[in-house]
Amino acid sequence: MTVVGGAGGAAGGPASQQDMRRQNLAVVLGAVRAHSPLSRADVAGQVGLTRAGVSSLVDELIGRGALTETAATASGRVGRPGRALAVSGDGPAGLGLEVGVTHLGACVVDLRGEPRVWRRVERANADRPAGQVLTEVAALAAEAEAEAAGLGLRVEGRVLAVPGVVPNGPGGLVERVPNLGWHGVRLADHWPDQDTVPEPENEANLGALAEYWSAERAAETFVHVSAGTGIGAALVLDGRLFRGARGFAGELGHIPVHPEGPECACGARGCLEQYAGEEAVLREAGLAQHGRLAPGGPAGTGPVPAGDPVALLAERAAAGHGPALAALDRAGRALGLALTSAVELIDPDALVLGGAYAELADWLLPSVRAELAARVTVRPWAPEALRASALGRRGPLLGAALTTVRRIMADPTLLPVGRPAARPGSAVG
Ligand SMILES: [Zn+2]
Repeated sequence: MTVVGGAGGAAGGPASQQDMRRQNLAVVLGAVRAHSPLSRADVAGQVGLTRAGVSSLVDELIGRGALTETAATASGRVGRPGRALAVSGDGPAGLGLEVGVTHLGACVVDLRGEPRVWRRVERANADRPAGQVLTEVAALAAEAEAEAAGLGLRVEGRVLAVPGVVPNGPGGLVERVPNLGWHGVRLADHWPDQDTVPEPENEANLGALAEYWSAERAAETFVHVSAGTGIGAALVLDGRLFRGARGFAGELGHIPVHPEGPECACGARGCLEQYAGEEAVLREAGLAQHGRLAPGGPAGTGPVPAGDPVALLAERAAAGHGPALAALDRAGRALGLALTSAVELIDPDALVLGGAYAELADWLLPSVRAELAARVTVRPWAPEALRASALGRRGPLLGAALTTVRRIMADPTLLPVGRPAARPGSAVG
């Protein structure tokens, strides 16, 4: 993003001036975030605006709670010591929430992107009424917000990660979560406080966005594949999440890898999920009894989480357990086959294995790489373009919280005025 304006802009109407100021606020905030500590003069030098112009923007960002100014001297300046600007670690924050098949999560991330509150509780959520699950998520959200308020943070936006299909557009509708038995669930219908209803988003999308926002040198065009009960892929194209015409993009789990393979829950045969989905891998590794849920039990009593099957699988593989290694090799080859299609179709800079795959990367990467090396031959393809995410299973929850932070960074006028950060305990929005 670049600074806009100066005198004599062609379209000088009030609306465009507002847009210009909004954009310049974002540029100043971004410069401080990238290079802090900076003085006001440093910022002016960084973004190419006058000192007076920058000061007015900085004052507004302080007034909105996005920046703080300390008495410390900014480094590297001569002459009169400037006061140092920094992105606020108090004040505005994003709340991320997550519903998984066996857990609920909540986290609060400050404007610097630091997680400040992190909560995760084990819950068998499959086949429970959506309203019951969402009431518990709302209670967890309220606890997280209260803890955040105690740290001087106020939540400015709320996003809920779900392992299912969230159609494009507003409305807060979760269309389908097969592994939870949800169909057409509107969050507002089940949320106790209408002022704090979160916005739903697919967990695989949020995992990919967290990767994009957190990676040191993120690729601009990449495919992020993660495994939970199903397999979710997300496509980031030129730095933007690609959701498809209706929001269904990225259903990599149902790409066929063997036309005559085993039948899938979707009704087709030989889907990737039947080879590289968590259930399939655990079954193949002889760990089916450690699978996430005992099948068929009555809601609330039968389905109980049985430890962490992914950690157990990794443990077995590390110990050289034959069936575990064979299952992971088979999964890796199937993944490589499916990802070959993705590489050939969209020409990505990178392929990222996220979620539980990241924790199994030591055993998955070699076979995925081998498959890609054998099949991707008519274009340049570097083996290191395939890598594991550093975020692993934390990705979706982080991405949910970071969504709000990223929106504020792009448009600081989303923050209310007159609530500077240095006022811990101010009302939670
Ligand atoms: Zn399928």
